[in-house]
Amino acid sequence: MGNVKTDIQIAQENDMLPIIDIANQIGLKQADLNLYGNYKAKINWDAVDKLRDNKSGKLVLVTAISPTPAGEGKSTVTVGLGDALTKAGQRTMIALREPSMGPTMGMKGGAAGGGYAQVQPMEEINLHFTGDFHAITSANNALAAFIDNHLQQGNELDIDERRITWKRVMDINDRALRNIIVGLGGPTNGVPREDGFDITVASEIMAILCLATSIADLKERIGNIVFGYDRQRRPLTVRDLKMEGALTLILKDALEPNLVQTLYHTPALVHGGPFANIAHGCNSVIATQTALKLADYVVTEAGFGADLGAEKFLDIKVPVLGKTPDVIVIVATIRSLKMHGGIKVADLKNTTDPSAVKRGFSNLKKHIENMQRYHVPVVVAINAFTQDTKEEVAVVEAECERLGVSCQVTDVWGQGPEGGLKLAEAVVKASENKQDYTPLYECSNTIIEEKISRIVKEIYGGEEVLYTPKARQQLKQFTKNGWDKLPVCMAKTQYSLSDDPKKLGRPQGFTITIREFVPKIGAGFIVAMTGDILTMPGLPKQPAALNMDVLEDGTVTGLF
Ligand code: ADP
Repeated sequence: MGNVKTDIQIAQENDMLPIIDIANQIGLKQADLNLYGNYKAKINWDAVDKLRDNKSGKLVLVTAISPTPAGEGKSTVTVGLGDALTKAGQRTMIALREPSMGPTMGMKGGAAGGGYAQVQPMEEINLHFTGDFHAITSANNALAAFIDNHLQQGNELDIDERRITWKRVMDINDRALRNIIVGLGGPTNGVPREDGFDITVASEIMAILCLATSIADLKERIGNIVFGYDRQRRPLTVRDLKMEGALTLILKDALEPNLVQTLYHTPALVHGGPFANIAHGCNSVIATQTALKLADYVVTEAGFGADLGAEKFLDIKVPVLGKTPDVIVIVATIRSLKMHGGIKVADLKNTTDPSAVKRGFSNLKKHIENMQRYHVPVVVAINAFTQDTKEEVAVVEAECERLGVSCQVTDVWGQGPEGGLKLAEAVVKASENKQDYTPLYECSNTIIEEKISRIVKEIYGGEEVLYTPKARQQLKQFTKNGWDKLPVCMAKTQYSLSDDPKKLGRPQGFTITIREFVPKIGAGFIVAMTGDILTMPGLPKQPAALNMDVLEDGTVTGLF
């Protein structure tokens, strides 16, 4: 592995085309863009609006097996598959999430793909990019400031300061800010109260930006945000504060999708990045929709495993998007299959064990069945690692063949588009199948408990759902408030199909406990919390930031 180039070395050795050339490839002109230097642009509102009547291309959703802590390469395969489709002569675009600086500086690494399947300029995409996250942070914190100012200026709305649910955010992992007290220092410095910080990607504003279909819709959703309750416990909204106009204004430019390119010059829209547990974990509807109007194939991804990201893509994003996927690609790695087959994470790299792969296939099989349940064609992509053996790969191929599911070994990380040609061919073939899309639930006439029961029983394979007294109480309140018509967004561990990260493979007979609900009325979903989900992560002892530097001439080093 000594000679393997890092992601940033590969990216820096590669020449980008001017973004105007990339835009021209998809029929856009300079007047359709707001340029951010030579290599990044936003597609402006006029252009987005003009495209709305175009015919939509085919949509390919990339999802994954329940992952190992290192991730299974969804972003990498998404980018590589896009490049492979381009190489195969298809007019293709990629629609990805924007990385958060918290995990970039902390542990996970970047999220611009990897190896020879990356979007670029990766240094900028992984850091400030076009400033969307800063705009979201500012809008979120402006609301926090308006709430505190309202308390200070006489509290006409009778806000109960103990029941303000809106938190401040920033885009860095900082555990010291999880719980704080604001307003200290006497009467001129505000009303003292408990507050806290979340990471920007956990902000409801982020989820809203990713689901909004227009500026008007953005404003409507922002107006609907419930930021807390009054002393009679009635919900209070941003509309009550009359702040929806100002907050929408702060976000106006951030709502426009960002155009960049891959190493092989496939156009990519990288836009929005909500958490995949307390939010829906998909890139923006605006970006996906715009890409569909500009290309014949759009490859996009959803966070974590298919039980979380894909379920939310299908049950929360699809109804807003108005387009169902034509193909779902499930990414699996030999290492994740071995982990589900009982091999410890620390031993995965140095263990060859086809029988563990076979045992671990039970997890992948459940995800395949789940996606087939929506009646969308499924293709499995084995994201190849150098340590995989032929015997191990053969096990997955044989098991998929028994299920009648196409399975393609993919090495876009090591080989770029060449390594994804077979996958691209399988995707094009699968996309020609006739579809009979079947949602998991009809949102508006199914009660929340029934929606959760369907997700738990049909998708996770669980037996029963338990509710804490607090959750039961909330459900009653939600029905009274008319919130029971909204879809459910499950906040659950990504490591297991159950709510226990230690239950690997295909657990059965388990129960899922709903601890509490968090209403996200602006975003338009109810979050069901199944455990302690951290909305402000901490930094590890050795943060990835320790390796990062910038040279005198501005060259970035150590960014993976
Ligand atoms: P996910 O989107 O599933 O979280 P990513 O695509 O971001 O995963 O990949 C996680 C990390 O693994 C990245 O650093 C990427 O460069 C690396 N990676 C992905 N595929 C491979 C591969 N086939 N071989 C080696 N490293 C890989």
